[in-house]
Amino acid sequence: MKWPVKNIQDIKWQDLELGMTITEPGSSRFYKTGDWRTFKPVVDKSKCIKCGLCYIFCPDAAIYEDNEGFFVANLDYCKGCGICAKECYVQCITMVEEEV
Ligand code: SF4
Ligand code: SF4
Repeated sequence: MKWPVKNIQDIKWQDLELGMTITEPGSSRFYKTGDWRTFKPVVDKSKCIKCGLCYIFCPDAAIYEDNEGFFVANLDYCKGCGICAKECYVQCITMVEEEV
């Protein structure tokens, strides 16, 4: 990889070198950090009360509201930390191991 790069979206996070500086704000959305994940959150929609607590607590802002008002993880960015499952008041999120 030749540095500096003009378009940050042309490189993957794996290409970043130790100690380098990223000067373009908002560039993290181009990195699909979900590929670090080993578990994924699965919502039982029959139990979900649409409170949005999972959305508030997700440290990666990886949860969005779908067009039915349910809160679901964007697996491009969810790292599978399980915080949403821990915080869900009605315990309707299960962390399921990813298949390899
Ligand atoms: S598992 Fe972690 S990163 Fe993924 S949606 Fe839940 S809180 Fe966010
Ligand atoms: S915290 Fe649980 S009940 Fe609340 S919106 Fe998220 S999945 Fe549904």
